[in-house]
Amino acid sequence: MTDHVGSVESEAAELNAALQTAAPAEVIAAALERVGRERLALVSSFGTESAALLQVMAKVDPAIPVIFLDTGMLFAETLAYRDTMIKALGLTDVRSIKPDEAALKASDPDGELWFSDPDACCRLRKVEPLARALSPFAAWINGRKRFQGGARAEIAVVEADGERLKFNPFANVSRAAIDAIYADNKLPPHPLLATGFLSVGCMPCTSRAGPDEDARAGRWRGRAKSECGIHTMRTS
Ligand code: SF4
Repeated sequence: MTDHVGSVESEAAELNAALQTAAPAEVIAAALERVGRERLALVSSFGTESAALLQVMAKVDPAIPVIFLDTGMLFAETLAYRDTMIKALGLTDVRSIKPDEAALKASDPDGELWFSDPDACCRLRKVEPLARALSPFAAWINGRKRFQGGARAEIAVVEADGERLKFNPFANVSRAAIDAIYADNKLPPHPLLATGFLSVGCMPCTSRAGPDEDARAGRWRGRAKSECGIHTMRTS
């Protein structure tokens, strides 16, 4: 462990202890205060639950950079929703990041890697582009919640991601509280929600979820995979 990574880990532990019961806006404000706007980014998929975090962020500071991974495999509705939310919330710095063209040509010339090796496809289209996009930043914010279960059930409010701080302002927020943010602020829903897509990612790897299923059940259905890797691999 390098000295820098070690000091980020202590910083994360100290912030995590201080922000255990903080409201999401307080967590974002603490992140902003700690590293400054130029060194802080929020990562959003503009999915079915994304508007709540973006709303909280916009109230704190709508100019915090927002990174959106445009994998080239997204639903047209998600791209349209990104544009709707930029307008609705007055977000001023949304950066759409695409996979490296040369790497795509070399590793997935036919666009079928999602079928033969979804982990490699996520690395190519999400993990590597995110690591590249985050290189200027000292900290990032994301919208995972403990109630989503699986690997997310025990996430901290603040954790270390290699040399970077990672803030999870919704870690201990309930589904009801997320729903209330949508209702109170009249946030437009993702267009695919009404058609049964409870969680939306790339087209080939997203299916509808039934009423008795977990919201993320439609992601990578039938595969032994529940995360794309951006939260399970280090970005630095
Ligand atoms: S979610 Fe599917 S299509 Fe998207 S990057 Fe991962 S494997 Fe590829």
